[in-house]
Amino acid sequence: MDTTASKRIDGKGTAVAVRADVAVRVERLVAQGVTPGLAVVLVGEDPASQVYVRNKDRAATGAGIAVQTRKLSAETTQAELLAVVEELNADNSVHGILVQLPLPKGLDEGEVVRRIDPAKDVDGLHPLNVAALVMGDEGLVPCTPAGCIELCDRYGVDLTGKHAVVVGRSMLVGKPIAQLLLGRNATVTVAHSRTTDLAGLCRTADVVVAAVGVLGLVKGDWIKPGAVVLDVGINRGEDGKLYGDVDFPGAEANASLITPVPGGVGPMTIAMLLDNTVTAAARITGLEA
Ligand code: NAP
Repeated sequence: MDTTASKRIDGKGTAVAVRADVAVRVERLVAQGVTPGLAVVLVGEDPASQVYVRNKDRAATGAGIAVQTRKLSAETTQAELLAVVEELNADNSVHGILVQLPLPKGLDEGEVVRRIDPAKDVDGLHPLNVAALVMGDEGLVPCTPAGCIELCDRYGVDLTGKHAVVVGRSMLVGKPIAQLLLGRNATVTVAHSRTTDLAGLCRTADVVVAAVGVLGLVKGDWIKPGAVVLDVGINRGEDGKLYGDVDFPGAEANASLITPVPGGVGPMTIAMLLDNTVTAAARITGLEA
């Protein structure tokens, strides 16, 4: 009997389920007189960013969220961009603000992120939200890491006492995932480009999270039998197809659960953005969602 298919985590299907739950929460807020609002700011013409923003717009609209996309030219100055952020901060119909990163060269991403009202920071990158995550306080959590934990929850993965190895230590993915796993009582090791014996380390892991951006870095025989593998990486192969950071066929043979690329962690990111937007709207208005 071929059991491999059942080991794959269906991120696409799970994202559909999360979005349906979000739509119910949106209806609850609408019934109380508030339509959650999301503002997406796109600066410049980067083709990948344009696709991401279009997808976010479509998904949010589908869930009943009022979306406005602000498209600014690549020549936009830092002061002009900050003025747009301030305008959205002051707009009571906007509960979530997302500035699509990366910004064109010459613009200071850190300053832009710090200027977003932390209560509306649905990307979870404002220093106050980073601090809230570390301190275990209520805040807004970055979408991709939140999506990884949501997949674990919906697939019944009990993280307590598990050894989780997170490969990658970026502010966007690696560090927040490590904090979320700690919050779930996993024992967490964070690996990076200077880690020695990454293979040996991964072989001790009950949960491997790969968030690097190197195609096939994590080999199949690094995965302990029965381990859970979450592959965050998105890499374009020479054949033009998308691949993760994990050698999927090799790892799938050992893992109990594994996310494919595409169709694993990726679809969860937008779903969690919508979830964050509704959470922000509920907190800002003091309503139940
Ligand atoms: P990043 O900022 O470039 O960080 C990459 C991390 O990987 C760094 O911490 C780096 O270590 C580490 N690293 C690089 N080479 C390594 C090696 N050979 N061995 C061990 N660690 C190594 O990237 P990111 O923004 O975190 O994104 C990571 C991947 O996730 C990318 O493929 C990105 O496209 C993808 N991603 C996917 C989603 C999604 O929705 N699924 C969302 C965001 C990102 P140092 O710190 O030592 O340099």
